Amino acid sequence: MGVQKIKSFAAGAWVAPDAGARPIEHAVTGAVMAEAGAALDMGAMLDHARNVGGPALRALTFHDRARMLKALAMYLSERKDPLYDLSFNTGATQKDHLIDIDGGIGATFVFASKGRREMPDAQVYLDGPVEQLSRSGTFLGRHIAVPKRGVAVHINAFNFPVWGMMEKLAPALLAGMPCIVKPATATCYVTELAVRMMLESGLLPEGALQLICGGTGDLLDRLGGQDVVSFTGSAQTAAMLKATPSILAGSVPFIAEQDSLNAAILGPDAAPGSPEFDIFIKEATREITVKAGQKCTAMRRLIVPDPAPVIEALSARLAGVRIGDPRSSDTQMGAIVSASQRDDVAAKAAIIATEAALVFDGSAPEGFVAPRLFHCADPDAAQQVHAVEAFGPVSTVMGYRDLDHAAELANRGEGSLVASVFTRDPDAARHLAIETASHHGRLYFNNRDSAKEATGHGSPLPHMVHGGPGRAGGGEEQGGIRGVMHYMQRTAVQGSPDILTAVAGDWVPGAQEIDAGEHPFRRAFDTLQIGETIHTAPRVVTLEDIEHFAHFTGDTFYGHMDEEAAAANPFFPGRVAHGYLLLSFAAGLFVDPDPGPVLANTGLDNLRFMSPVSPGDAIKARLTVKRKTGRNEEYGEVRWHVTLTNQDGEICAEYELLTMNSY
Ligand code: NAP
Repeated sequence: MGVQKIKSFAAGAWVAPDAGARPIEHAVTGAVMAEAGAALDMGAMLDHARNVGGPALRALTFHDRARMLKALAMYLSERKDPLYDLSFNTGATQKDHLIDIDGGIGATFVFASKGRREMPDAQVYLDGPVEQLSRSGTFLGRHIAVPKRGVAVHINAFNFPVWGMMEKLAPALLAGMPCIVKPATATCYVTELAVRMMLESGLLPEGALQLICGGTGDLLDRLGGQDVVSFTGSAQTAAMLKATPSILAGSVPFIAEQDSLNAAILGPDAAPGSPEFDIFIKEATREITVKAGQKCTAMRRLIVPDPAPVIEALSARLAGVRIGDPRSSDTQMGAIVSASQRDDVAAKAAIIATEAALVFDGSAPEGFVAPRLFHCADPDAAQQVHAVEAFGPVSTVMGYRDLDHAAELANRGEGSLVASVFTRDPDAARHLAIETASHHGRLYFNNRDSAKEATGHGSPLPHMVHGGPGRAGGGEEQGGIRGVMHYMQRTAVQGSPDILTAVAGDWVPGAQEIDAGEHPFRRAFDTLQIGETIHTAPRVVTLEDIEHFAHFTGDTFYGHMDEEAAAANPFFPGRVAHGYLLLSFAAGLFVDPDPGPVLANTGLDNLRFMSPVSPGDAIKARLTVKRKTGRNEEYGEVRWHVTLTNQDGEICAEYELLTMNSY
């Protein structure tokens, strides 16, 4: 096989490597199998993204982009085999592919789904509720978010060529930002194939995705305040790139995910023979061997009450791990990505060995790295075991005296992506959470109750924040819509109710009411206007109504039934109507009975009962279209703002009613 030329995709064209290209070796054979790197016109790439990709993405709504992501994920799902095939060359096994390739596609699906459920079918995202900035409500505030107008530059590590790209690409595209992806050169050929597929799908607008295989030239020098850099890799590279003058001068957000000395704590209750002990040993084995330990979230430090039984059980498990050709279905642990990384793991393990004894040293075929387990007898005095990340199948066991000591040791990593705790003791879990959460981006608790469904210490999930403070880079990725927010500008908007309604596409009390003439429940989803309002006729609430409702439902609370006891209650003047009776009467006042576009009432949000309603009071409802969110081709969700008032105009109840309306 010849040397494969790994191309970049720049300003709409594929560009082959040139004389400055770097060689890429096969992880198993060590042979040079590919090369990548060309002198690209970074200015043209940025222009293409900013002037072509950005406007095209911003013309879409969040839902359009979410649908695009779903289609992209489905497209890749149908083409996994060629990606698996290529990925074996990185040293990854079929099981590793599930994390990288299936994991990347899975993350894209989750962002697609969250985009549809949690973001509006609009170009403006609302961040939080309306803030009352004035006494009579004529001047209000709220936070909105819109996509930044620049480029999202994604610089990724070598260990996850597909997941590493997709976990950043999905939230950036959902936000509406064009992306330039720069994978690590060692495994960029897998990323290149995935990018090629996505471009061939025709699902992405022109300019939304570009690829740099090789060096980034003067790309970073050209960035400005509307751009975002999201970096994954070593702390050293992060520190260097963060200090680029243009990044500092332009306050360019620089999200860094870097080295991490992740801890796993075995709870004091998890003695040998307990299910928690076994779960810990199983997960630790997996964390040490998956991706041959080249995982940013891998368990590097095992903090346990008694090291001896842990070392014994873990060594027995590690000794049985089959290491070798990643293509073989028997293989449980594949290869380290390159000879230089193998050397790096050996050098880092040698540093750890200055403070810890090697207690398990596995054997592996020539060219592979065997798992190694260290025991650090004095973790308080040790420095290196808490600071040096051997990016391979290497872990260190250390003992703790009590929970506070365990927390102190876990925090000695000075910021990590994840710490796990294997315990069934809720008090121990709570204590450790309070003592350690400040130092870890994610806390993962597992025990016999959750083990079957737990997703694993080492698995970042698109729903949950991935990133960690301090040494881990201080970044935050994923975490559902939190991850999308990195690519948007949050802006405080202040103004009158009408202005806020127009800007946000969300009716706020005090804004103009539109009288459409016809009952809004008779109107199809697409013809309803934001602000459309009906006012119902009043209905008098009688004592008979209250008694009837009380006996019918069984809710004979004294506040509704006993005049004297109710009057003694600080909230009631005497017997009052049930809040649920008021809601039911309100429905009776505004519901349109015949079959029509309203398919179902799907819920009620932000309900507050305010002034109590006494027998003889007359209530009426105001119902206003607050927000509309398309769900599918057949129907969409309408959020109605409902206010119930009494004969004196006092508000008795306020809530948001949700209905599904057909088109
Ligand atoms: P690395 O050497 O720091 O490289 C990371 C990325 O930076 C690569 O794409 C690399 O490209 C690029 N890069 C290096 N110098 C650059 C420069 N001057 N200008 C622009 N880009 C530059 O890290 P790695 O060896 O790929 O990854 C291993 C490290 O990543 C480990 O420390 C691991 O803990 C960390 N990691 C962290 C996470 C996380 O989520 N926190 C995930 C995975 C890995 P080239 O390959 O072309 O040099």
